[in-house]
Amino acid sequence: MKTEQRTAMRELGAIGSTFGPLWDTYFESAFYIHGHLCGGMPLGFRAGLAALKALGAERELDMAKLVFVETGTGHAAGCFADGVQMATGCTFGKGLMERTQYGKWALTLVDRATGKAVRVSVRPEVMQASFASPFVQQRKQGTAPSAIPVEVSRPLVEKQLARPNEDLFVISPVFDYPLPAKGKASFNLVLCSVCSEAVAENKARVRDGEAVCIPCSGYGG
Ligand SMILES: [Zn+2]
Ligand SMILES: [Zn+2]
Repeated sequence: MKTEQRTAMRELGAIGSTFGPLWDTYFESAFYIHGHLCGGMPLGFRAGLAALKALGAERELDMAKLVFVETGTGHAAGCFADGVQMATGCTFGKGLMERTQYGKWALTLVDRATGKAVRVSVRPEVMQASFASPFVQQRKQGTAPSAIPVEVSRPLVEKQLARPNEDLFVISPVFDYPLPAKGKASFNLVLCSVCSEAVAENKARVRDGEAVCIPCSGYGG
């Protein structure tokens, strides 16, 4: 990572302290984990924060919330989803993020404990300005985001950070979103009788009376 990018990430991350205690650490980390400076990740981060605030909820430490992001893939601002993930704590690894292919900059955050949800979408004029920015123009020419000079990417982020939530997002009223009860998590593992790799017990298959992993079973997922 280039020094200028790192410095900008550290300085922009510090602005996260205005979101509340610890948020400068989360925000700065989000930049590093994402890998480059861009407008999409910070916008998703702010959208995730706005959703938490609207629900009166804290960043998810465990598995009690779920987020649906509508960004999809294959366009200029998929980075939004990384920001959502890192602000809400509803991560891919914890199985708390699902992505639809709508190609829209919106998320729905659901709290299992209360059965309540909120949808946050980016105002269309914000997306139009973002797509017209010099940053996206350079991306269109084929420049990798990390190769775009900080003088181009940083003002985009700073401009967004200076704007209040109302300018950036449409935030729905809180609505009911009951989720089906989750199946019990498995805390047991078995060894596949073919490849000997460890498999979560509830994902193993049985073939000829022996436990096997899905790839070795020949049965398909
Ligand atoms: Zn990005
Ligand atoms: Zn196997």
